[in-house]
Amino acid sequence: MRITQGFCPKCGAPAENGELCGRCRLKDTVWVEVAPRVECIICPTCGSVRTANIWSDVAVDKDELGQSLVTSVIKYHKDVRDIKTEISIVDTSSNRSLATVRVSGTLYGIPLEETHDVNIVWARVQCDRCCRIAGSYYEGVIQVRAEGRRPTPFELRRAGEIAYQVEDQVQEAGDRLSFVSDIDETKDGTDIVFSSQAIGAAIANDICGALGGSFTTHPKLIGEKDGVRLYRVTYSLRLPRFSRGDIIKHGKEYFKIMRQSKNTLFVFDLLNGQSRAFREVESDKLLGNIRETEKGIVIYRDADLFGIINEKTGANEEMAERPWLDAKEGDTLLFVRDEDVLILAGRDADQTDLETITLEDTE
Ligand SMILES: [Zn+2]
Ligand SMILES: [Zn+2]
Repeated sequence: MRITQGFCPKCGAPAENGELCGRCRLKDTVWVEVAPRVECIICPTCGSVRTANIWSDVAVDKDELGQSLVTSVIKYHKDVRDIKTEISIVDTSSNRSLATVRVSGTLYGIPLEETHDVNIVWARVQCDRCCRIAGSYYEGVIQVRAEGRRPTPFELRRAGEIAYQVEDQVQEAGDRLSFVSDIDETKDGTDIVFSSQAIGAAIANDICGALGGSFTTHPKLIGEKDGVRLYRVTYSLRLPRFSRGDIIKHGKEYFKIMRQSKNTLFVFDLLNGQSRAFREVESDKLLGNIRETEKGIVIYRDADLFGIINEKTGANEEMAERPWLDAKEGDTLLFVRDEDVLILAGRDADQTDLETITLEDTE
C-alpha cells in the first residue's frame, strides 16, 4: 500500500500533501479540444493552398494536407502525457471530407481517450497565379533579335532554354508570380512573354551573358489598377552581328568564335589553335559558320598540305594543314572559303563541342 501524507479535500481519497486528487483535478479540466470544422482554400488548377490570405505551393497530396489540417485543430492541455493521435479521413463529397480523430493520453496519472469528428471543407478558389495565367496577364516581352541577321536555330533554342531555367530558379526561390507566359517564334527572332519585371530582367541578362549582345527597355503605361500604374515593358534584345561558331576574318587572320560578351569576341585562332580575345571591329568579315561549312575528304597529305575531294562538287582541292588538327586520309574536314583560299575550320567528327557548351561554361 502507498504511503500518503494526506487526503483529497474534495472526495477524501488518498492524495499527496492533502492536495486535490487526480480525479478531482480532472473534473474541471479540459484535457483535449478538437474543433468540429476546418476549412481549406485550395486552387483547383495548381493545388496551391491559401493560409491567412497568402497562397503557397504545397508539395503534399490531399490526404497529407487533410492530416495536417486536422492536426492543427487538436489542442491538448499542456500537462497531458503519452499523447497519441489517430486520424482517418474519408471523402464524403467532392468538397467535404470527414475525419475521425481518436485521441488518447494521460493526465494527472489517469489514462484518457476520446473520439471526435472533424468536418473538412475544401473550398475551391483559383489562386493569384492561375488567375493571371488564365487572364493571359503579362508584364512584358523580350524580343530576341540579332544585328543584321536572323538569330540561328541554336541561339533561339538557347534563349528559350534560358527563359525556362530562370523560371525554375525564381519559382524555387518562392516567387510564385514570376513565370514565362509564352515563347513565340517570329519571322525575325523569338518573343519571350513574361509575368513580372524581376523575371524579365533576369532572363534578358542571362541571354546576353550566354550569347552576347545587349538590350534596351521600353516601358509603356497601359493603365491603372487599384490606384497603381501598370506598365508593360518591352526588352529589345539584340544579339551581336556574329554568333557562336562563326568563322571570321579579322585583319588578315581567321578565327572561329567560341563565345562573346558585350564587346569582346573569344575566339579560336585557326592558324595556331590558340585561344584569343579581341574587340569586334567594323571590318570583320563573316566567312561561314562551323555548322554550315563545306566538307572534304582527305585523300593525301603532302608538304604541309591536305589534298581533299570536295564532298559536294567532287573537285580536288588543297588547303594548308594546321598544327592543331592531326587529320589522316579518309577524315572529313570542314572548311570555309576566303575568295580562292580554303581555310581549315575543323574535322567533322569533332563538332559536338559547340552544341554542348552550357550557360555555366560561359560565365
Ligand atoms: Zn478527489
Ligand atoms: Zn493555382
